[in-house]
Amino acid sequence: MSQQQQQRDYYDVLGVAKSADAAAIKKAFRQKAKELHPDTNKSPTAESQFKELGEAYAVLSDETKRRTYDAYGHEGLKGSSGMGGGASSWGFMDDFTDLSDIFSAFFNGGFSGGGGRGSANSPARGSDLRVSLKLTFMEAAFGCEKTIEVRRLDTCTTCHGSGAAPGTSPETCTHCNGHGQIRQTAQTMFGQFTQVVTCPHCNGSGQVMPHPCPDCQGEGRKEQTKPLELTIPAGVDSGTRLRVSNEGDAGWKSGPNGDLYVVLNVAADAHFVRDGYDVLSKIPVSFSQLALGDTVEIPLLKGVQSVKIPAGSANGTVITLKGEGIPQINQPQRRGEFRLQLEVQIPQKLSSAERDLLQQLRQLEQERMAKKPKAEPTKAGEEAPHPSGFFAKLKESLLGH
Ligand SMILES: [Zn+2]
Ligand SMILES: [Zn+2]
Repeated sequence: MSQQQQQRDYYDVLGVAKSADAAAIKKAFRQKAKELHPDTNKSPTAESQFKELGEAYAVLSDETKRRTYDAYGHEGLKGSSGMGGGASSWGFMDDFTDLSDIFSAFFNGGFSGGGGRGSANSPARGSDLRVSLKLTFMEAAFGCEKTIEVRRLDTCTTCHGSGAAPGTSPETCTHCNGHGQIRQTAQTMFGQFTQVVTCPHCNGSGQVMPHPCPDCQGEGRKEQTKPLELTIPAGVDSGTRLRVSNEGDAGWKSGPNGDLYVVLNVAADAHFVRDGYDVLSKIPVSFSQLALGDTVEIPLLKGVQSVKIPAGSANGTVITLKGEGIPQINQPQRRGEFRLQLEVQIPQKLSSAERDLLQQLRQLEQERMAKKPKAEPTKAGEEAPHPSGFFAKLKESLLGH
């Protein structure tokens, strides 16, 4: 190639300021390289512009060359190594310090190529799986053994994961000689580039399967539903996620298995309500039990316990029994509280004896009421919020008559 008559300023070529830092230069180069790439840009000048861009980047991305260029311009670079003499006019390519930059601009993906399993030759870990499991209140509280059905990829039992039909074996790929990668030469503006890509014939495995296993089509894994026994620890709750190691999908090419995540869903109970590790329970009691006090047998999570109701307990009183709640996960000896709330039951039907007694009771209540002063005296000059005797009358009306 003949000496270029006039060379554009490298900063102009990249479209960056003289003060641009390395990152800005790199960014500008990548962007312009994409714009000017001959695969996409059909303009007749694209080719020469692309080349010019490569030159500019080669210099400005190299600290030493950039300093020389800043001080002496294009002339200053003439004598630098790799640029002059008998080297080809593409010689500056030898000076690229970060070849992957240029490759990623050219080949849109860089060296590694292909996504999916990553390097197709290497074993891959199986996928993690997630299943949900319903438990009763008691199963969650105290733990249980469960057998669940899991649909997952298991190592194929016909070929034991090799993917080859029984009696046959995989053969070395002749295209890549078992390396899984081949060298590919690409023609670019800068001459030939050789890059290493995944072998398309064996997909990078280095082996081909002339007779794939009929059961798994050569995959080495097969979807199967298998029963799995689980031990659910005490104290779990809705939303608890249990990890079962190695029970996810089988690995690929003897890679490790994935994990299984079991997400728990705990059903509500008719008698007990859970609050973390505490349990709430409503205990029906009669008016006389509250008024006179009593000792009652209370059904707990496990067994029953005698609980004393103090005389004169208000409706809604909560009695707390420590250590009778839900066992804590991984510390089952520690348990939450059992809180029982006394809830008075008003009988819907009364026997005649009960009615007689209640009427006598009401009689007594009214008499007691009548003995009390009708209203609280108000301070002199202060306006009473309600007419004198209002509350007493209200009480009276509520109690009957
Ligand atoms: Zn198979
Ligand atoms: Zn191959």
